[in-house]
Amino acid sequence: MRGLRWPGSAVLLPLFQLIALCSLCLLLLPLQGQAKIERTLCDVCGRVWDDSPARMRARVDLGHNHSRTLYACCPFCMLERMEDYKDRNIGTLQIVLHKEHKENAASMLVAERSWFLIGIEGDEEKNAEPYVAAFRNKKAAEEGQKKLGGEAIDWETLLGRVRKLTDDFEPRAPKDYPPLRPGRSAD
Ligand SMILES: [Zn+2]
Repeated sequence: MRGLRWPGSAVLLPLFQLIALCSLCLLLLPLQGQAKIERTLCDVCGRVWDDSPARMRARVDLGHNHSRTLYACCPFCMLERMEDYKDRNIGTLQIVLHKEHKENAASMLVAERSWFLIGIEGDEEKNAEPYVAAFRNKKAAEEGQKKLGGEAIDWETLLGRVRKLTDDFEPRAPKDYPPLRPGRSAD
């Protein structure tokens, strides 16, 4: 009966190296899963745009078949941002439907056809004052008012109120603008 023979080091060494390599790969796998999540930020104040309760966006035509999307955490920042492109053709202003604002694929309403509650309780972490919630129509805004409070107004009225605030705002003072972080999607 022949005894079992250990394979020689010529076989064992590459085998150990292979095992070591596989172990290393397994260790690294979870790191790949932690790839950085790209979050869209407000162009003006740098707050996270993705879940802001009154986030807005608009496409601006830059000419020569180029365009970019403006991202603002709220109407205040959007009006500030639009100043940068006042000589350009800015497309439809969109604002998130308030009741879906926590969803990734939340409905975006055409701002000028929407109704709003202004002066609701807000969150300074997520957007700038005045705190606003957008609804599909007047009836829905009045319904939302029972829970959120505030005043129900149309887009023109909201625009007038926010424009007055942005006009009073110290224009373009660098200290008021946190540096824009990289990684913002600019499609
Ligand atoms: Zn902002």
